[in-house]
Amino acid sequence: MCMNIRRSCRCGRNSAYFLLGDNLLPPEVLVNLYCPGCRDLADGNPAAMLEDCGWILEFDLAMARIFLDKRGISQPSTPEFIFDKGYLTWQGFSPGDHEANTRLHQRLAPLIEENLNLYLQTLKSEWLAHVAALKAAGWRKALTA
Ligand SMILES: [Zn+2]
Repeated sequence: MCMNIRRSCRCGRNSAYFLLGDNLLPPEVLVNLYCPGCRDLADGNPAAMLEDCGWILEFDLAMARIFLDKRGISQPSTPEFIFDKGYLTWQGFSPGDHEANTRLHQRLAPLIEENLNLYLQTLKSEWLAHVAALKAAGWRKALTA
């Protein structure tokens, strides 16, 4: 089971949806989120931060350690490990993916009654194009998708 959370960045102009894989970590492990507009405010320990296309995620690694230990996970608690393993990571491939997905479904919805096959094909091809664009932009999760 996974939990989704939404968090605002430090300046409050942007937000992102996160996935907490396996419900292993509490949301509080993400102590700060910075969008490209407020990333200059990030003044914590660089070793506790992960950057992805201008966004910065700052983790409480000591807290993460406690929860990893509880599950017998002995790998070092680094931002990369936490993010790449999906324990606290974007929902989808980027901060805006949840909304992009919703918009795509809304835009194509009229096709459902008209032509279901076309709807499914278009949905698939447009989503693949979306992921390809994220990959080209260098989003960390899209690069390994
Ligand atoms: Zn911001």
